[in-house]
Amino acid sequence: MEKKIPYFMAEEIAEKSWMITNAFVENSYANCYLIEGEDYALLIDSILGMGNLKTFCETLTDKPIRVANTHSHSDHVGGNFHFDHCYMPDRDIASFQDCVGVKKEQVMEIAKKTALPEYRDLIEPDDNFVDWNAIKVYPIYDGDMFDLGGRIIEVVDVGGHTAGEVVFIDHKSRIAYSGDACNGNTLLEFPNSLPIISYLRNLLHLKEHQKEFDKMYGGHEIFDASIVDEAIETVAKVVAGTDDKCERPGMMGGTVFYAAEKVKDGYPRVDGKHFNMSYVPEKVAAPEETRQIIK
Ligand SMILES: [Zn+2]
Repeated sequence: MEKKIPYFMAEEIAEKSWMITNAFVENSYANCYLIEGEDYALLIDSILGMGNLKTFCETLTDKPIRVANTHSHSDHVGGNFHFDHCYMPDRDIASFQDCVGVKKEQVMEIAKKTALPEYRDLIEPDDNFVDWNAIKVYPIYDGDMFDLGGRIIEVVDVGGHTAGEVVFIDHKSRIAYSGDACNGNTLLEFPNSLPIISYLRNLLHLKEHQKEFDKMYGGHEIFDASIVDEAIETVAKVVAGTDDKCERPGMMGGTVFYAAEKVKDGYPRVDGKHFNMSYVPEKVAAPEETRQIIK
């Protein structure tokens, strides 16, 4: 019998709410989420584009599916291209357009590299892979609401990691779907990351909503809502220049600073708290940025 590649698996984390991850890989580090209302289902982020996410979502819901993204990074938008549209934070639309042009062969190569050994040779150029061609992009803004029917998902601007990064709050399940807004390894080192003072301001804005959710389901990790307090405390230290300033090699090649010391060669903080961030010094010195600056 032909062996089938289990591209995805889903876990129901709340009523009609699923966390979806890649199942055919050794280490699935990216999560996306499908939430069903009476009228339509909302897919929040779409991970890496390995596997036909649309077909998989259709096994979970028979409602029409809208796609919305927390931000434009490729490990959150890869599956968008199996759909014909997405809702994207306005300030991340430009960087999302830069993803267009990736060929399905490139995605397949990555899939083969990351697949468990038993699936590696079975991966074929079938409808699990598509070129990242242009799709319709609709902008979303702070305060926008997705009315799924009996279920409202609110958009909250938490720009920092990227200029447009948002969090989606499901008022019914009291879950905030947070992408990379605030986690144990929040990267503020990208060219389109905001100045740290702007990130702090946006975390304080998220704090105003903190009573509306208990859990934060992120693009890579899951936390209690209290991580928002740790984030505000830590980012305020960075702004004041009183953080640990641990020098490490950054994702983008250069040197970055971690706000809180990590355990040796490890990931968690020495002091047992959960939030951490990396940044470059220019982002601390930069003035607050409330408008898009196109360079
Ligand atoms: Zn990201």
